[in-house]
Amino acid sequence: MKIDIHSHFFPTITQAEAARLHPQRAPWLRTEGRHGQIMLGDKPFRPVHDVLWDPQRRLEHLDEQGLDVQVMCATPVMFGYDQPIERALPWAQLMNDRALEMAAIAPERLKVLAQVPLQDIDAACREASRAKACGHVGVQIGNHVGERDLDDAGLETFLRHCAQEGIPLLVHPWDMLGRERMKKWMLPWLVAMPAETQLGILSLILSGAFERLPESLRICFAHGGGAFAFLLGRVDNAWRHRDIVREDCPQLPSSYVKRFFVDSAVFDPGALRLLVEVMGADRVMLGSDSPFPLGEQSIGAGVLEHPLLDETDKARICAGNARAFFDL
Ligand SMILES: [Zn+2]
Repeated sequence: MKIDIHSHFFPTITQAEAARLHPQRAPWLRTEGRHGQIMLGDKPFRPVHDVLWDPQRRLEHLDEQGLDVQVMCATPVMFGYDQPIERALPWAQLMNDRALEMAAIAPERLKVLAQVPLQDIDAACREASRAKACGHVGVQIGNHVGERDLDDAGLETFLRHCAQEGIPLLVHPWDMLGRERMKKWMLPWLVAMPAETQLGILSLILSGAFERLPESLRICFAHGGGAFAFLLGRVDNAWRHRDIVREDCPQLPSSYVKRFFVDSAVFDPGALRLLVEVMGADRVMLGSDSPFPLGEQSIGAGVLEHPLLDETDKARICAGNARAFFDL
């Protein structure tokens, strides 16, 4: 059994539909046969192929990959967090409805996470609840909204709402820091994305948010939690030896790993071994980042062909943990 909890879709949005959110900055899809281009206004943003938008091709992709279930979520460029709520809420609802239309081809195998207009906490809570009632299995959020990280009071309110309503969350890095210094070679994806995820996790730990949020919160971070696992020793050391690291965080940072999950998208057996050691095999879920080039091309191979994980751990990571996390 293989359940992939981290994959993306992008619906067939026209330029006119995108213009309702923002004429130059909202994304839309230009297609030519099986190839396409995500556009921002008149500018190409990213070349893509039809698995991203075509439900039939998506289903074929699941078969080719031997996947039983795939959880799809928005491509982060779709979030629209920087737009006025009057436009961002209908936009999120349109994206969420299109996602369900795409999944309708095989609702037992294609599951979707909603997006919410996180710049307005009340609207975000309402849309998360509406989406859950409509059939979304959870919500994907970006790891920050402008200058506000996950320890922001409003974002904490949103996390509490999801915990109380039983809505699982996937946190995806986006809107990467330091762009002006990372102009080439996909450096924002290679350097800043893992740092954004690390920032998201540490915002929750060091602010003491995990002390205040209900234990029922189900929250998962993409890309193996970014830089988190490798740098956890550094964080613990800082907590022990500097009072300003401890001031809002009463427990050793590493003690909070039991409060969240990560996916398995780390692309290296040594990294996956470390991740499972740090998080525990019950807190890692198969995530591919498909169908993008930076995703796992043979979905699940990194887990299933791992030389050191035992069969029980592989089964948990590939399906068991996700079934419980998303109530599948
Ligand atoms: Zn992703």
